[in-house]
Amino acid sequence: MGKSRNGIAALGDKIKLPGVEQFDFVIIGAGTAGCVLAERLSASGRDRVLVLEAGGSDARFWIKTPIGYGYTFADPSVNWKYKTLASPGLQSRTMYWPRGRVIGGSSSINALVYCRGMPADFEDWRGLGNAGWGWQDVRPYFERTERRVDASGRAVQGRPGAALRSAVLHGPADPPLDVKDVTPFLHPMRTQWLEAAAELGLPVTDDFNGDHPEGFGCYQLTVRDGRRWSAADAFLRPALRRRNVKLETQAWVRRLRCEGRRVLGVEYFRGDEPRYAGAQREVIVCAGAVNSPQLLQLSGIGPARILSAHGIEPVLDNPAVGGNLQDHLAVVYSFKATRPTLNDELNSMPRRLIAGLRYLLARRGPMALSVNQFGGFVRAAPNATRPDMQLYFNPVTYAAGDATRTRIQLDAFSGFYLCFQPTRPTSSGRIDIASSDFRQAPDIAPNYLSTDKDLLDVVHGGRLMQTIARTRAMRSLIREPIEPDLLKMRDDELLADFRARAATVYHPVSTCRMGKAIGESVVDSALRVHGLERLRVVDASVFPTVTSANTNAPTLMVAQKAADLIMNP
Ligand SMILES: Cc1cc2nc3c(=O)[nH]c(=O)nc-3n(C[C@H](O)[C@H](O)[C@H](O)COP(=O)(O)OP(=O)(O)OC[C@H]3O[C@@H](n4cnc5c(N)ncnc54)[C@H](O)[C@@H]3O)c2cc1C
Repeated sequence: MGKSRNGIAALGDKIKLPGVEQFDFVIIGAGTAGCVLAERLSASGRDRVLVLEAGGSDARFWIKTPIGYGYTFADPSVNWKYKTLASPGLQSRTMYWPRGRVIGGSSSINALVYCRGMPADFEDWRGLGNAGWGWQDVRPYFERTERRVDASGRAVQGRPGAALRSAVLHGPADPPLDVKDVTPFLHPMRTQWLEAAAELGLPVTDDFNGDHPEGFGCYQLTVRDGRRWSAADAFLRPALRRRNVKLETQAWVRRLRCEGRRVLGVEYFRGDEPRYAGAQREVIVCAGAVNSPQLLQLSGIGPARILSAHGIEPVLDNPAVGGNLQDHLAVVYSFKATRPTLNDELNSMPRRLIAGLRYLLARRGPMALSVNQFGGFVRAAPNATRPDMQLYFNPVTYAAGDATRTRIQLDAFSGFYLCFQPTRPTSSGRIDIASSDFRQAPDIAPNYLSTDKDLLDVVHGGRLMQTIARTRAMRSLIREPIEPDLLKMRDDELLADFRARAATVYHPVSTCRMGKAIGESVVDSALRVHGLERLRVVDASVFPTVTSANTNAPTLMVAQKAADLIMNP
């Protein structure tokens, strides 16, 4: 066999030779899910685990510093920096989609907000035919993940379910992922935010991850000692102390290698050097909602039409690979404020220096926090039976509402923004390979805002924001609105404005979704790829539907449960 353009054909000969490195498990992607699996699957010390990550080290100041989100957001050395195709529902706009390409994956570049989602989300999952994924089934996996930490940095005892955690799952007495209550450190405007809820008779909650997550409240963050506490910090680093775990960075997986429908291992590149690793038990694809379907399609698992268009020999025809893409959209309404906000603390060099010193000396101040500080989960539609809007109040404004923005630049005046995000959109799109070359980004077609229900959600969300902005508490903070003025918009204008300015909240899911059958889904309820042997997908791509809140926590949960499914089938 001759050497192909990228050397893989020659590699195909080599893999049959003795001496190819064999592992029990090969994990593709050291992101949120991959880090959890590396830890759990290696815990016995018996199984050899290889983790392949396309990106490099996460030992970077702006990754570890929570506010550094604004820098990693567009940094090509840690970010895939995807761009979507045009969405007709959004005035044919394309959108910038950051995704982590670094140890820790998107958990190393995200906004650190930790929210499980609503219990009803998981009842939906089970209702779609996924036995074992209802709220009571998945709740223990959240609990074995979260080390609840109070504002002083102490682990909180007696949180609901702690007993359940140890009794049912034999989870660690001290779970690895710090989920911290940062309420006392948040901007003082949180007082007015909670007062607005009281004025409107809306609920307030002190724990978005408790038994009653509905209401206005403050976000909990994945931080420890003022530093980001990513999935890599919580799971991968402890795993790497074990001799049976090997991590390769800058290892870009090109495709899976199959014999018939049995997966044998993976072909990958380090720089220009082709390599192969064998998996004697399983290959687990944890490449995230964009790259997991891409990798399956490159490996011949996907819609036959797409595969043949790119000259890829089909292993299994399944149109659901890359389908069912869901994402959250949000729009921000910006206001000039009557009092100082984070803009004032961070928008000049001397002030940044002061904030920097405070951070370096005490790990305190705005640099130790996310820009997403408080918000809520509320019902906007008159007939809503559960929260249908997620809200954000951010005491900061920057290049407001530009969905194509790739840099975050704070405004020069005191400002804050209000934001809403419909929690359960029904529009769905696709991600498909654009080429048989693994280095070429796939086509991302989110197809945002393409159902009547989603359009109605926008109007309900906009009206709710108007009601909130009209409260006495909010009026005391507003010096003047920044155009477009939320309070002047009629329903049709709310919708037109949303189409013009809404942006992703970076929560793509479901492109390899879990379900009963080939055609409508990609993996079964044990996350095994339908029709293939020794192959699972474990990451945000398997969500049957998008959850009501941020997606990092449920991805961690999915990986925790997957580890049990793999180890105790
Ligand atoms: C800017 C941003 C802000 C966000 N903010 C929040 C937030 O505040 N709270 C929240 O809950 N969620 C947030 N999210 C979403 C959340 O972080 C993700 O849903 C979650 O991290 C997804 O985990 P994953 O394991 O599916 O994928 P990822 O964590 O993205 O991991 C996939 C990994 O696979 C690697 N990979 C991909 N392809 C290959 C290949 N071919 N070969 C080798 N390696 C490969 C990638 O480099 C990456 O490291 C945010 C996301 C972004 C991008």
